[in-house]
Amino acid sequence: MNFHKKLNYKDKVVKVANDLLIQNDCVNLLDVLCRMNWLDISHIYRWKDGLEDNLESYMQSTPEKRAEVYHIFEEWSAKLPSIEAPWKFHSIITEGKKLQVLDGCQTDLELLFSRHFHSRDLSSRKKTTLHKKLTQKPDLRVFIKTGKDDDTCKKCNTTIYRKNFIYTEAHTVYCLDCAGLGQLVFLPSGDATLSRRAKKFTRKFAEVVEFNKRRKRYERRGILVEEEALEIAKRSCESDASERAVKRLKSTEKRVEEDKNFTSEFCFKVKQLFPNCPADEVNAISEHATVRGSGRVGRTAAAKKLDDESIRLAVIAYIRHKHTDYDRLLINRTPKKTCRRLIQPVLQKKLKSWEV
Ligand SMILES: [Zn+2]
Repeated sequence: MNFHKKLNYKDKVVKVANDLLIQNDCVNLLDVLCRMNWLDISHIYRWKDGLEDNLESYMQSTPEKRAEVYHIFEEWSAKLPSIEAPWKFHSIITEGKKLQVLDGCQTDLELLFSRHFHSRDLSSRKKTTLHKKLTQKPDLRVFIKTGKDDDTCKKCNTTIYRKNFIYTEAHTVYCLDCAGLGQLVFLPSGDATLSRRAKKFTRKFAEVVEFNKRRKRYERRGILVEEEALEIAKRSCESDASERAVKRLKSTEKRVEEDKNFTSEFCFKVKQLFPNCPADEVNAISEHATVRGSGRVGRTAAAKKLDDESIRLAVIAYIRHKHTDYDRLLINRTPKKTCRRLIQPVLQKKLKSWEV
């Protein structure tokens, strides 16, 4: 970021555009303006929600400088392939509309804003995914109402209570009937095959999410599909249930075998790097670090390649918990940073004694 400050805005355009192209495989002029802090993402969200007529009044800098930025971006992108996907406000309450970035009719520039440039060597699979992402209507989202206060549907005035389904658009609340989703039935998450098949057979679909206050994020709770589609999906799942059970068993066995192999390779590497570590502790370190789904150091991408640093981190984590006062200090509410500092001498001594 500091590097950006040293560049003038003209050089910055090219640098930012190149960075974005590498990071996202795709770049649009709006992304560039955002990354340059000339446009705030919150305004883009409001605009996409149909709450703003255009974005020009929210853009930083002078019209002259902006024109120059557009020009530089146009030149930079001239030789790149692009997907044309005009920005749209998707609505199921009103008609929906094509969104205009600038105030007034500036067709050539609007066209530039609608182009999503990608690199020439993008694989055809990635290109197809990108094309889908840019041109397909996004999935509808329905929320499970949280919070104490009731809401009222803007169209029919029905009260929407806590835990009811709610549809929002342009910051306005609607009941499912008014959103045209009232005929759908709820299928809770849990059976991935059933959900996938029901989604395939239904003509109307919405994802159901709920805000998890503790984790501060929206979590998927299930889907809304047509009742008929759900019945077909259920029948199709029943018909091949035994076949799928056999497949599931086989893949579980395969995973167990893979995990076993990985743990023993991990063991071998620990022994190699820490030859004085007792055998039972080598096993304990490896088994603990490589538990699937644990998110521990042994499951990271680097550790899967059995990289020295990851092995070392797993050993350090083990020593910290087994051979130092770390856990006791934590229980006594010592801040994590202080705990880590206090245990360093003991930890380093143990680590060294295993290394030599
Ligand atoms: Zn309503």
